[in-house]
Amino acid sequence: MSQNISQDRLKMMPKVDLHLHLDGSIKPETIMALARKSGVSLPANSVEELLPYMKADKGCLSLTQYLEKFDFVSPFLQTAEALELAAFEVVEQAAEHHCLYIEVRFAPQLHTRSGLNADEVIAAVIAGLNRGEASFGVKARCIAICLRGHTGEMNLEVVKAAARYMGHGLVAIDLAGAEAAYPAELYSEEFRLARELGLPATIHAGEAAGAESVREAVLGLNARRIGHGIRMRDNSEVMSLIAELNIPLELCPVSNLQTKAVESWEDYPLRYYMDRGITVTVNTDNLTVSDTTITKEYSELCEHFRLSAEELCGLVMNGVKSAFLPEGEKEELMKKMAASQAAWLAAASTSTSP
Ligand SMILES: [Zn+2]
Repeated sequence: MSQNISQDRLKMMPKVDLHLHLDGSIKPETIMALARKSGVSLPANSVEELLPYMKADKGCLSLTQYLEKFDFVSPFLQTAEALELAAFEVVEQAAEHHCLYIEVRFAPQLHTRSGLNADEVIAAVIAGLNRGEASFGVKARCIAICLRGHTGEMNLEVVKAAARYMGHGLVAIDLAGAEAAYPAELYSEEFRLARELGLPATIHAGEAAGAESVREAVLGLNARRIGHGIRMRDNSEVMSLIAELNIPLELCPVSNLQTKAVESWEDYPLRYYMDRGITVTVNTDNLTVSDTTITKEYSELCEHFRLSAEELCGLVMNGVKSAFLPEGEKEELMKKMAASQAAWLAAASTSTSP
């Protein structure tokens, strides 16, 4: 029965999403509303016409092309009000797919064009997440992103601002952007400071560059999780390092195929990594840019890897264990997830058709 889990059943499965970009997950309807409000004209008059500007093209060839889609929404996310709304709606979307917990990430420096500072951007996002958590019961925390290509000064500002919100809605920092052009060692000062300030780090690596980039993120920048980590299967030494240090990978399957981090589902290293003792988690990356949902991510994996219901629950629990939450809160979430999974599995066994 493993490969016959229906879409409805997958949607009902309790989940978490640890790798979810705010600006890549804005609904087109919301961009239209924000544009009307700010008097900015759009190149489209309907959701259908707008979507091509916001989601990755079918012929997307690289991470660089994929990242271009983010430039389109950026002008509409420059006020506290817009950021609060965007964050709230991300929680709403996560609730529709039965997430119990999400970590939403964003780069504060991309939202300062109209005068907000990094602290104000973070505060606005946290306010939206808190409102979403209160409305939909999904625990929601955030991660501030430093960007490859930004100056040390800009990134240090992000680290310092993030530290002020650590434990108050923010749980970690990240490094994202053009991985191949800007190696991790350029950002050692920022991540040394983060470590001193008690901010755990997850780092985008092994997406547009290979195993060395993953090694540098872990050993050089002290990453406790890796965003993607898809391109390291040719290096058994780095894979062993990741397994031994128990550094979870935040896989985002649909996105990984779009950015050509992996050529095909046949090449997707899900079982390959699992068989080597690497902790893998399943995430969306960008709901709108990747045109995905967390249900769709699991659905694709089910189809291509014939995962059983128990294996699916194991992957979800990997996410819970990898969450950047204080130990007490994490234990509470683990208990809640275990109970939800037991209920979901029990419902599956009574509704399975021959
Ligand atoms: Zn990402």
